[in-house]
Amino acid sequence: MKRRVHVLGTGGTIAGAQPDPGHYGYTAAQFGIDWLLNAVPGLDRLATLSGEQVVNIGSQDMDDGIWLQLARRVNEVLASPATDAALITHGTDTLEETGYFLSLVTASDKPVVMVGSMRPATAISADGPANIYNGVAVAADPRACRRGTLIVLNDEIHHARNAVKTGTSNPSAFSSMSRGLAGITSAGRVEWFEREPHPIGGPPRFDVGGLESLPRVDILHAHANMSIDLIDAAIAGGARGIVVAGVGAGNMSARAIERLARAAQHGTVVVRSSRVVSAMVLRNAELDDDGLGFVAAGDLNAAKSRALLALALTRTSDPQHVQSMFDQN
Ligand code: ASP
Repeated sequence: MKRRVHVLGTGGTIAGAQPDPGHYGYTAAQFGIDWLLNAVPGLDRLATLSGEQVVNIGSQDMDDGIWLQLARRVNEVLASPATDAALITHGTDTLEETGYFLSLVTASDKPVVMVGSMRPATAISADGPANIYNGVAVAADPRACRRGTLIVLNDEIHHARNAVKTGTSNPSAFSSMSRGLAGITSAGRVEWFEREPHPIGGPPRFDVGGLESLPRVDILHAHANMSIDLIDAAIAGGARGIVVAGVGAGNMSARAIERLARAAQHGTVVVRSSRVVSAMVLRNAELDDDGLGFVAAGDLNAAKSRALLALALTRTSDPQHVQSMFDQN
């Protein structure tokens, strides 16, 4: 029997349209999920498909409320014996953080695969149909179980935990950096680099079933002449956590360190990540995290760190406890 893949549409460039195929500009999220699936020839050879539209937005408008809605729907769909896997279409701008968030909150070993595209659906040589085709093939592969949320684009299979967007127009826009790809796929054929699933599946790290919202976490970008009053604005605005996309290995100016250490003393959880695309922010290296009360993000970038910190804050504001969650991620 063919595997049953349920597709959840959220919009993005993969559902985008131009005024005409040669036009440079386009608008994301113009087509619904049925239109997208009908545009891919031969999908029914790979799986039995069903679909629904969760939202239809450019992923720059993704927010915590939609994350919680999507997570609940993914968990409901996968809990049904009538579904073997979920495929989510999503814009590429925030794909890496939605994917990582879902990998932390999905309560099923069944495959969760996300696809997007760099060219709109109406483009000459649109990449969306091939990404959907390969995404369905990966979702329908029983070997995709227990691998956590996966992202399929440009014939590559990424763990959502590792994938980052590194380009803004070329179809080869995602990289898994030092951790490497989960596998490759082409014309529906799937090759896994790790024969056995990496143990990222299993019980969810966080249960978001009863949550209406997530604690506010803001990201501040460190740079020369960094403005300290943005830290105050974040705290005044209600942030319970701050992620710094630091320079180098999560560094920042002495004034920013001093202000954030004070915030940490008063209960704001401060996570040091990096603005460097291939970064490793280690604890107590150039900064004294123990003394300052900070958390070090390892190789999680700032957007992914925001997702983990927001979930962590639903349980604790103790920086050592939060650090242990980052260490295990
Ligand atoms: N702005 C679009 C989005 O993230 C870009 C894309 O999908 O590639 O929805």
